[in-house]
Amino acid sequence: MSNVTGAIKFKDGTIRFYEYYGTSDVCSTKHYSTQKEVADNWRSYPSNRCSCEGLEPVSIYSSYGGGFYLDGFACKNCEALAHDPDFDMIEREDTEDWILQIWPWEELV
Ligand SMILES: [Zn+2]
Repeated sequence: MSNVTGAIKFKDGTIRFYEYYGTSDVCSTKHYSTQKEVADNWRSYPSNRCSCEGLEPVSIYSSYGGGFYLDGFACKNCEALAHDPDFDMIEREDTEDWILQIWPWEELV
């Protein structure tokens, strides 16, 4: 496994998608409205930052290694995504596991 598509959830329930780089355990710095956009920009390694101070806390899901969550920040306006490089992996069973509402098949992982 290397890169996988991941999803993020804003507090208001908005879902966005991003690319998770499995070899370096980081999320792409840009998120997209659709999974197709992630695929269209696969391995493009964008360098993106929020420039409007609109970062808000989000829940990030990565399907890497069976799936886990991490906490991070994202800005809807700038499509920016950020997290601590030394993030704590949050086990799926310790959360509401919201990805199952988006990707029911993740239950099979
Ligand atoms: Zn911003």
